[in-house]
Amino acid sequence: MKRRDFCVSALAAGAAATLPVRHLFATDGVVDLPAVTSTGEAITLEGAAVTELADSLRGALLLSGEPGYDHSRAVWNGMIDKHPALIARCEGAADVSQAMTFARERNLLIAVRGGGHSISGKSVCEGGIMLDLSNMNSVRIDRDSKMARADGGSLEGHIDHEAALLGMATTGGIVSHTGAGGLTLGGGFGRLCRNYGMACDNLIGADIVTVDGKLRHVSDAEEPELMWALRGGGSNFGVVTALEFQLHEQNPMVIAGDINFAWKDARDALMFYAEHGADMPDELNLNVILVTVPDVGRVVSFEAVWSGDPAKVDSVLAPLRNVATPIADTVTAVPYTNFQKRLDNSNHHGVRLYMKSGMVNHFSEDLVREVLEVHRESPIYAIFFMQSGGAVNRRAPDDTAFPHRSAHSNMMVWYQWAGMETDDERAARISSVRSDWDRLKKYTHGYYVNLNDEDAAGTHANYGKNYPRLVRVKNQYDPGNLMHLNANIEPTRS
Ligand SMILES: Cc1cc2nc3c(=O)[nH]c(=O)nc-3n(C[C@H](O)[C@H](O)[C@H](O)COP(=O)(O)OP(=O)(O)OC[C@H]3O[C@@H](n4cnc5c(N)ncnc54)[C@H](O)[C@@H]3O)c2cc1C
Repeated sequence: MKRRDFCVSALAAGAAATLPVRHLFATDGVVDLPAVTSTGEAITLEGAAVTELADSLRGALLLSGEPGYDHSRAVWNGMIDKHPALIARCEGAADVSQAMTFARERNLLIAVRGGGHSISGKSVCEGGIMLDLSNMNSVRIDRDSKMARADGGSLEGHIDHEAALLGMATTGGIVSHTGAGGLTLGGGFGRLCRNYGMACDNLIGADIVTVDGKLRHVSDAEEPELMWALRGGGSNFGVVTALEFQLHEQNPMVIAGDINFAWKDARDALMFYAEHGADMPDELNLNVILVTVPDVGRVVSFEAVWSGDPAKVDSVLAPLRNVATPIADTVTAVPYTNFQKRLDNSNHHGVRLYMKSGMVNHFSEDLVREVLEVHRESPIYAIFFMQSGGAVNRRAPDDTAFPHRSAHSNMMVWYQWAGMETDDERAARISSVRSDWDRLKKYTHGYYVNLNDEDAAGTHANYGKNYPRLVRVKNQYDPGNLMHLNANIEPTRS
C-alpha cells in the first residue's frame, strides 16, 4: 500500500490537541509503512497496527514529514542523518513499554534517544523505531537520603541544577546538554569524578523497561546482576526510564578556570601532567587540551577545577603555575553549575565531529613527545585529556561493568567543525583523525564505550574479564539482542 504522510498526533502541540488528531487517524484508513528489522531485513508495518500503537501512547507518534519529526531525529552530531520509520516521543515508562512491545513483536530495529549526544549516532536509526525520551526529564531530589531521581531523558544540567539548590552534587559530564542516561550507562567522567567516582558509580538504582515490556526497579538488592551491568554496560539491557543517583554535599562555589601555556612550554606542561596527574588531590580536576587559538597559535590549556577547601587552592595549583609562565590564567571562584555550562556553546547541537579515543594508563615521556609531534604536524582540531584517577581508580575493575580503573586519563583526538562540508573535505578530516590515531593508539589500554565505535571483538576485549558476566546478563534480559545500537554485548544465541 502506498505510504502517505499525515498526522498521527498533534506532535509538539501538547496533550489537549493530541488526542483528537490521533482519533482522526484511527478512522482514516490503513496506511502501511516500510521499515527495517533489528537484523536489517525490510518489512512492512501495517497501518492498523501503527494506529493502535499511536492510540496506546500518551506521547506523540511521529512519522516522516510531520512537524517535530525532523527535530526529534536530529541528534547532536550534525553529520548524522537517519530516518526512523516511527518516532515515539515517550512521556513515561508506560509509553516506553508500549513502544518496546510493538518493536519486539515485529523484531523492529530500535534506537533510544536520551540526550542525543552519541557521536556516532547510536540514538537514531534508519527505518526502525526511535524511542525519544527527551520529554522525560524531570528530576526530584530527596534531601534526607541525598538522592536524585532523574527521568531517563534528563540532561546533565537538569541534575546539576536541582541538586545545587540543596548544596549537593554528583558526578556529571562537562557539557550540560549531554544526556544523563547515555553518559551514566556507559561510565560517566566529569569534573567531580575524582572526588565521587564515575557517574555510574553513583547510580544506586534505576527503573528499566526490558525488552519483554516489563518495568523493573533495580538496585543492589533487586536484580543485582542487572544493576551491576547498568553501571558501565551501556544500553544493552533495556530502556532506563529513571536513574537514581547518590548525591554529595558540595560547596556550590568552585575555584576554576584555564591555565594556558605557550607552545614553547608545551612539553614541560605535559610532562608535569604526566608525572603528577595520578597523585593530585581528589578535589582537583585537570583536563588538558592542545588546541590552536586564533591570533595566538597552538597552546596547551589546563582546565583546573578545585572543588575542595578554597584556602588550599593556591598551594595546590602553585606547582602547575611554576612549570612556566602561563600566557593566561583565568582561575577564579565561580558557581559550579555555571562552570558546568561553559563548554555548552562551543559544543552546540549540530556541530560536526569525528573522534578517536582511548584510556591512557601510563602517561609516558614517549606519549608526550608523540602527542606534540602529532599536533604540530596534523590539521586535526584538538587533542584532549580527560583526567581519571582519584575515586574512579579506587574501585576494582569488576566492581561495576565499567572496567577502566587504572587510567591516568582518557585521550581523545578529534576534528570538529560547523556547517556543511563537501564529501572530500569530510573524508580528509576523518582520515586525518584516523592517521593521527594510528600513531597514538599504542599508548592506550582499551577505550571508553561512550566515545568509540568498535566491532564485537573490540567490545569484548575492552570489557575484558567483565565481558562473560555481561553476556550472562544480556542472555537473561535481551536474548534476541533487540537493544544493539550501542557498544554491543552479543548474547549467546542458542
Ligand atoms: C558535547 C559532548 C560532551 C560530552 N562530555 C562527556 C563528559 O563530560 N563525560 C563523559 O563521560 N562523556 C561525555 N560525552 C560522551 C557521552 O557520554 C556520550 O555521548 C553519551 O552516549 C551521551 O548520552 P546521551 O544520552 O546524550 O546520548 P544518546 O545519543 O541519546 O544515547 C547514547 C546511547 O545511550 C543509549 N541511551 C541513552 N539514554 C538511554 C536510556 N535512558 N536508557 C537506555 N539507553 C539509553 C542510547 O540508546 C545510545 O545507545 C560527551 C559527548 C558529547 C557529544
